[in-house]
Amino acid sequence: MSVKSHKVIDIRLLNDLAVSSLTRSNIDVPEYEPHEDGDIPNTFVPGRNIVFLTLASIYAYKVHANTVITGVCETDFSGYPDCRDEFIKALNNAVSLGMNKNMHFKTPLMWLTKAETWALADSMGKLYFISDETLTCYNGVKSHGCGKCDSCHLRNKGLNEYLSNKDEIQKSLHKKQTLAM
Ligand SMILES: [Zn+2]
Repeated sequence: MSVKSHKVIDIRLLNDLAVSSLTRSNIDVPEYEPHEDGDIPNTFVPGRNIVFLTLASIYAYKVHANTVITGVCETDFSGYPDCRDEFIKALNNAVSLGMNKNMHFKTPLMWLTKAETWALADSMGKLYFISDETLTCYNGVKSHGCGKCDSCHLRNKGLNEYLSNKDEIQKSLHKKQTLAM
């Protein structure tokens, strides 16, 4: 990807408003356990993706870009309502109306399993970069993480699935990408 600039925005204000185990050090991040559909864990930060996508859209407007890409996924996920495709489309519509500009929110990972997301990284030659240099752990531990939280469970399970069945998972990724074109 030809990234021209990398902008970091300070959103500590969200910590003051949103009560969650990800924003408050006095609330423990729960260890992974299977949950029912509709259960929202205490790691949920209300409004997080509304804020992220809205701020990204304001920046996009400023630099005359019309695409905002987000890594949300509702296939293997913790059940957050703001990771769902329905929400992303609704906010995309609201932001486009509110800015009088056709903004396109893209969600390349939305329908991929975590194993397929690893396959995607591998197909771009970035498997080890993603596994060693990125962070998804709710306890803030880079790479393979704390190994106990929900996010580590999904990430590491997906990686193990991919590594033990690469050919099949590359095929299923390719099939989904072909269907999405
Ligand atoms: Zn973790």
